[in-house]
Amino acid sequence: MQAVQYDAYGATPVLVRVPAPDCPPDGVLIAVRATGVCRSDWHAWQGHDPVPLPQVPGHEYAGVIHEVGRQVATRRVGERVTVPFVCGCGRCAYCAAGDAQVCPDQLQPGFTGPGSFAELVAVPAADLNVVPLPDDLDFVTAASLGCRFATSYRALTAHGQVRRGQWVAVHGCGGVGLSAVLIASALGARVVAVDVSEPALRMAAELGAEVVVDGGSDAARRVVEATGGGAHVSLDAFGSTDTAVASVYSLRPRGRHVQVGLLLGDDATPPLPMGVVLAKELEIHGSHGMAARDYPAMLDLVASGTLQPGRLVGSVIGLAEAGPALAAMSRPATTAGVTVVRL
Ligand SMILES: [Zn+2]
Ligand SMILES: [Zn+2]
Repeated sequence: MQAVQYDAYGATPVLVRVPAPDCPPDGVLIAVRATGVCRSDWHAWQGHDPVPLPQVPGHEYAGVIHEVGRQVATRRVGERVTVPFVCGCGRCAYCAAGDAQVCPDQLQPGFTGPGSFAELVAVPAADLNVVPLPDDLDFVTAASLGCRFATSYRALTAHGQVRRGQWVAVHGCGGVGLSAVLIASALGARVVAVDVSEPALRMAAELGAEVVVDGGSDAARRVVEATGGGAHVSLDAFGSTDTAVASVYSLRPRGRHVQVGLLLGDDATPPLPMGVVLAKELEIHGSHGMAARDYPAMLDLVASGTLQPGRLVGSVIGLAEAGPALAAMSRPATTAGVTVVRL
């Protein structure tokens, strides 16, 4: 089959022919129809988040079930499906409780094994991890759900407990941040979007941000001003020391910070102002994707048109262009929105 693969960290990912993966006995093979290009793939490619080499990136995808393992009870060939980027093992207490996103034995196609920049991707524990798609949800839109959109949805609802009329600050307007802007606005929150990129802020405003703030050293102060005393909920949707700290300083008393962007390398231990956390009784949450169990509520909002993830798609490219698109993330973005590969 065709796949995009890199042999070493930072080496150009290229389109090659590789053997098709084996179908896991408890899993499925999915014929990939669309797969998103996410900054987490870029981090892995850069070696910030070590992966086995050579590696096929890609972890947010939608497609059709091509083969079903003999231990799988609930899935069938031909089903249109997507999968969270974290696949639970299906055997531990966390998976049993519906928290596969923190399963200690989790697998992540694109990181722990070959991913979805390929014609076929193997998914383990299919009874737990595979999510059927509504008939009218197209593959390109569905591919944007598995990582960034679902992570933002869970960050705002399960962790942020966002209520209509509350202020939400979103620091960083890449794929996950723009997803948060769209979802928070759709849920009736008032959104302040922060970024250093002019196209990203323009797109944030189009997706419903009421206020946009140029990211810089005084971003938190400007969020506090714009929200009349601070946001109820603030997300670091970028993942850096500066944006994590700014997010905490953006909050009003009893506010909730949700860390959504990955914190890797030099940014792994940001100096959060715990004195402010104490004095304002802030809450600090981490959000690591969303388990398949929680998808139906989100998909209902997509089906009803309340959430329109298709609006996040900035460009659609072919598999041969996926490597260059990943490499382009090393440079500042000149366009906004999510790039999706269509197969
Ligand atoms: Zn598990
Ligand atoms: Zn991702």
